[in-house]
Amino acid sequence: MRKHVIAGNWKMHKTEEEIKQFMDNLQLTHDQEKTEAVICAPALYVKDMAERAKGSSLHIGAQTMHFEESGAFTGEVSAPMLTDIGASHVIIGHSERRMYFGETDESVQQKTAQALAHNLTPIVCVGESLEQRETGETNAFVGSQVTRALEGLTHEQIAQVIIAYEPIWAIGTGKTASSADANEVCTHIRTVVSELSDEETANQVIIQYGGSVKPDNIKELLEQSDIDGALVGGASLEADSFQALVEASNA
Ligand code: PGA
Repeated sequence: MRKHVIAGNWKMHKTEEEIKQFMDNLQLTHDQEKTEAVICAPALYVKDMAERAKGSSLHIGAQTMHFEESGAFTGEVSAPMLTDIGASHVIIGHSERRMYFGETDESVQQKTAQALAHNLTPIVCVGESLEQRETGETNAFVGSQVTRALEGLTHEQIAQVIIAYEPIWAIGTGKTASSADANEVCTHIRTVVSELSDEETANQVIIQYGGSVKPDNIKELLEQSDIDGALVGGASLEADSFQALVEASNA
């Protein structure tokens, strides 16, 4: 049985004081065998949050990283740095990074391998544009993003990767893919992973859905056969709503 993984993506939100309030208000009581709860915070706050979260059931992650270990890359943060300050997860290839910061399938592949080499769980984001959906290219496009991202990994490493299927048109728009449509793509992703590795490996991979997930639609999404969790932006920013998402996934 695969666990549910609920990951909050805070993007470029929150001050130190707001983070303190969030952490003070959060009271997670979920069964960790069933659900993993993660907040991916701005890199600047990961250390402090990881320290506050120590001994609790909350994991702290980052939202991006560089694919090299160290070097002349002004402004960047590396995987060993993130591990060093207590991060357990890292989002890779979010559509906003692909769109605004030149992230490519190649850099996603390099970063995924690098994260795994440093004991970080990569949350690899894939997803189609509205135009691609309307022209029937979704499965082919998403399948190729997955194939590129997992290139060169062993089956054992593939099993550690979390894949987040996030249709670009559903992010921050209030539009969610219907759970059946979301599941159809997640099932396709699992088939692609199985072809790249084997069925046993593919059955271990956590596949999340992301895009306007809220406490009132998460249950239906998680009831689907191939959706194992959610990557959540807006609804992860408040402690009560993040908690409601975690609880719903733990029922
Ligand atoms: P949203 O963002 O939940 O606000 O749509 C999801 C994401 O960008 O990961």
